[in-house]
Amino acid sequence: MFQIFTDRGRQPVRECLKTTAQTIEALVFPDQCLSCRALLPRAGETDPSDLRFFCAACRTKGIPTFCPPFCQKCGQRFDTGENHLCEICLTDPSAIHQVRAALVYQGLVPDILALFKYHARLSLTRVFDTLMFHAFDRYFSGTEIHWIVPVPLHPKKLRQRGFNQSALLVRRLADRYVAEYGTRPGWQVNPTLLKRVRHTASQTGLDNASRKTNLKNAFQVPDDTRIQGTNVLLVDDVFTTGATCGEAAKTLAEAGAEQVDVLVLARA
Ligand SMILES: [Zn+2]
Ligand SMILES: [Zn+2]
Repeated sequence: MFQIFTDRGRQPVRECLKTTAQTIEALVFPDQCLSCRALLPRAGETDPSDLRFFCAACRTKGIPTFCPPFCQKCGQRFDTGENHLCEICLTDPSAIHQVRAALVYQGLVPDILALFKYHARLSLTRVFDTLMFHAFDRYFSGTEIHWIVPVPLHPKKLRQRGFNQSALLVRRLADRYVAEYGTRPGWQVNPTLLKRVRHTASQTGLDNASRKTNLKNAFQVPDDTRIQGTNVLLVDDVFTTGATCGEAAKTLAEAGAEQVDVLVLARA
């Protein structure tokens, strides 16, 4: 077979390029598992997935998908039985109609989300596009929705992080819809309907009640007329205690939204 050789060491050009690429990769990408910090063998060319940044042991933690049985309202999962209302939802008048998700916030999912959110591994959005579309299709294709609204970040936070992770999760949802159904959806993704007007302290380490207080009046609807009588699907990356989505949904309901549902990448 015809081969081109470089001057040095008569190494085939292709081999030389491969070595260079591997050297660059070794410099740019970590050689430690991003979850447990164990040293990784160099990734082979056959594994283009971002998951190669986790060791074999951590990969066995798995990526659990969100599936029944769960609470019809807040999406809290149950071990067995049919879908039903959980104890909290039986008594709590939350402004959220239904919470649904693509994944469960367990196993490797928290690590993957941390990579996405705090280490800006935005190449993961390609995987998330698919996961979000399937979850949307599964749980909300039969629901009349007018607006899809990513939970907004405060401008200060947005400047620090450089991107809104919730907005990235639905950036291609309409395109995926068109590709799947051959028609435009009846809804629109609109990141301007809801604003975050208060820069809140981190929710980490706060109990449920403190989280709610921390977020009080954090959101605002700049123009009520666009919201009145509409059904809104809020989108966020994670739903843990639901304080953030709960406050956002309350603000939308007060502005006249008829129904507010929530779709997240991962439900705790
Ligand atoms: Zn590991
Ligand atoms: Zn519930």
